[in-house]
Amino acid sequence: MAVNSRVLAHRIQLLHAADLSEVLDTLSRYGSRAAVLCGGTDLVVKMKRGVETPEVVINCREVSDVRGIEARADTVQIGAATALETVAGHPLVERDFPVLSAALRSIAGPAIRSMGTLGGNVMNASPAADSVVALLAYRARFHLRSQAGERVVPASEFFVGPGRTVRRPDELLTAVVLDRRGAGVKRRGHFQKVGRVAGDIAKVNVAVVAEREGAAPRWYVALGAVAPTAVRLPAVEALLNRVARLNAALLSDIRQAVAEAIHPIDDVRSTAWYRRRVAGITVADLVAQTWQELEAD
Ligand SMILES: Cc1cc2nc3c(=O)[nH]c(=O)nc-3n(C[C@H](O)[C@H](O)[C@H](O)COP(=O)(O)OP(=O)(O)OC[C@H]3O[C@@H](n4cnc5c(N)ncnc54)[C@H](O)[C@@H]3O)c2cc1C
Repeated sequence: MAVNSRVLAHRIQLLHAADLSEVLDTLSRYGSRAAVLCGGTDLVVKMKRGVETPEVVINCREVSDVRGIEARADTVQIGAATALETVAGHPLVERDFPVLSAALRSIAGPAIRSMGTLGGNVMNASPAADSVVALLAYRARFHLRSQAGERVVPASEFFVGPGRTVRRPDELLTAVVLDRRGAGVKRRGHFQKVGRVAGDIAKVNVAVVAEREGAAPRWYVALGAVAPTAVRLPAVEALLNRVARLNAALLSDIRQAVAEAIHPIDDVRSTAWYRRRVAGITVADLVAQTWQELEAD
């Protein structure tokens, strides 16, 4: 097991990037020998444990092109290097994407949330990452830039394993983009984290979002810490999209469908058995709350 040495045990070259072109130029030259640093709340720990040993560390914290929150006509663009605390408390995010705000506020405490960034939480690609569960339920898109240009990847296609994404070594995650609710569309949702103590890494985390334009709502259900990556559950979404009324039988079917769709493991935080049970119950609870709110609208 890797032990945290509390010192950086190998020599690094630290570059404080001034702008995006300097970041992309360095990534293009060093590729996988370079690491991007935004808040460092994951990267520095991994470097002290010897899990990551980059030659060059590119500090992107002051690169203005990848910071801040911008409202456009149909979307909200969140710069990857924007602090978790800033995103969580932004009035636009609180109003239009409350599930994301709630997910971010469940992370650690204010100090870590002020250092850690949204892009860092995404790129760390933990199966339990709280932001990712909300971003999956909102069908976020991730913008990756390299010297070759930009590509946009849906959240549902971004994560390929624990700590692994489709990002190439020469690419920087520049922004997370969310669709604003269209006129006449009602959107409701909830996030819940089950943990050992408040602010801990999740045993299970769940985001449920429903959108209604006309009669039947469309449902989006995402979970963390129940598979090698955070996941959407298409089978559970399809079950919800088929029904017109909420009743006890449906809630029981949801609990069953969630338990069948996930692949949890035993680890230091919980057991597979407990995760399977609590995941189904939590999804059913959040669906019931969301449904009641949609009906009351
Ligand atoms: C005490 C503590 C408690 C925590 N609790 C939680 C919790 O409850 N829930 C939770 O989800 N997380 C938790 N975390 C994890 C952590 O705070 C988050 O993952 C944080 O958001 C990472 O952001 P960062 O800017 O610090 O990333 P960094 O450490 O700077 O980077 C993380 C990784 O992403 C890469 N990277 C960063 N930005 C980019 C980019 N723009 N483009 C490409 N690659 C990039 C880095 O190279 C590195 O591999 C906790 C961490 C600590 C230390």
